[in-house]
Amino acid sequence: MSIQSINPYTLEKLKSFEEMNESEIEKAIAKADETYQKWKFTSFEERAKVLNKVASIIKEKKSELSKLITLEMGKLISQAEYEIDYAVSIFEYYAKNAKDFLADESLKVEIGEAFIRKSPIGVLLGVEPWNFPFYQVARFAAPNIMIGNTILLKHASNVPQCAQAIEDIFKETNAPEGLYTNLFLSGSKVSKLIDDKRIQGASLTGSEKAGASLAEAAGKNIKKSVLELGGSDPFIVLEDADIDRATDLAIYGRTVNNGQSCVASKRFIVVEKVADEFLSKFKAKMSALKLGDPMDKETQLGPLSSEDALETILKQVEKAVSQGAKIEVGGKKADLKGNFMEATIISNITPEMDLYKEELFGPVASFYKVKNEEEAIKLANATDFGLGGSVFSKNIERAKNVANQIDSGMVFINHPTKSSTDMPFGGTKRSGYGRELSALGIDEFVNKKLIRVI
Ligand code: NDP
Repeated sequence: MSIQSINPYTLEKLKSFEEMNESEIEKAIAKADETYQKWKFTSFEERAKVLNKVASIIKEKKSELSKLITLEMGKLISQAEYEIDYAVSIFEYYAKNAKDFLADESLKVEIGEAFIRKSPIGVLLGVEPWNFPFYQVARFAAPNIMIGNTILLKHASNVPQCAQAIEDIFKETNAPEGLYTNLFLSGSKVSKLIDDKRIQGASLTGSEKAGASLAEAAGKNIKKSVLELGGSDPFIVLEDADIDRATDLAIYGRTVNNGQSCVASKRFIVVEKVADEFLSKFKAKMSALKLGDPMDKETQLGPLSSEDALETILKQVEKAVSQGAKIEVGGKKADLKGNFMEATIISNITPEMDLYKEELFGPVASFYKVKNEEEAIKLANATDFGLGGSVFSKNIERAKNVANQIDSGMVFINHPTKSSTDMPFGGTKRSGYGRELSALGIDEFVNKKLIRVI
């Protein structure tokens, strides 16, 4: 039984779900395709009505759904509530703006007429992770439903109750059956689905391994894919930064979602003039974090999502230490029943160590002292990832110049990278390709069809 809901705080098994069998999957694809044949001709108004209804049901159920997120994956309840509000705003944003984003674009021609029409392409498969169980689904489903595509959603196997709740919300809107279908199946079975001719594209947020496997299947079948994978975001602090603000935001950047975010700040790169001050304040603030029940509003750091996640990060830290890295604070499993990792800072990391290249998906910060701005940029780019990043300096022009030299999809000045409905989100290098959210996010799975009158 691979699909299980387990509370990462109490380790109690909450519920189990059966994987779908082949005939159930076939039925789901057939229905999604049948619905697509009609949905593609519906008006923007009709599509927006469904999304607005989804948004209003989520709003009504905010308390219940936030608790479900926290129960299944351990996020702090206040952050789960924020996620629910955010998901609502994404559904509403695309309901409101998709018509403009997808409007015909006229081309200048000497004779006749020419324009680009953005048309739907068909049934899409979304493969989503457990770390933001509602937000990740919203940013994939909302724009694509507005385009006229239909959605098959394979959610992570450790958040099945959230997955089921989202499908139930669509059902409650009375949207056509097949517009949004949850697939209970394990990750290893995803590639085979992409061979199906009725599925026209796929998007995955998750690990490099899962992303590569999906992209391979999509490539073999000549289908479009979007990948949002891991990151190892640099957090650069220059000598003219406000160190109190930078260390407050370092805590936020490293521990948001209990450290399990692709755009969490992971590598803290501080110029030597302010490095000791930064480290001492960062250490004090990390050690002061209150670990505990994620349902308790006083808690500042909750458990990791699964025993596997905890084991992975503990092994990474142990290996780094065995290779010569230094634990500044934390470094062990916390003395609590659930999957708790202590808030940790590691220093003395050198390019020969595995940790130098790896992503840390938990509340463990890598700290680097560098000589100057130039060295900071060089180290920021010494990674296979390229998702987000941040630069702290009171001199905005200087910070913009540093941002310009960082190889990543997003760089924030004086704040860790974060997503917003109207800003594009996505990476470069091994962090994936394509963009989600904003006007760019609705452009991925459309056929930009030229219509020419001569
Ligand atoms: P996975 O990549 O395994 O899971 C993400 C999604 O991909 C899940 O729905 C999963 O399904 C599915 N999946 C797994 N294997 C395949 C496959 N071969 N083909 C297609 N889909 C697949 O992430 P984990 O949860 O195991 O986390 C591991 C690491 O991934 C983290 O430490 C982090 O580095 C990265 N990650 C990044 C995220 C991000 O936001 N960018 C989010 C989550 C993880 P199933 O659950 O059934 O295995």
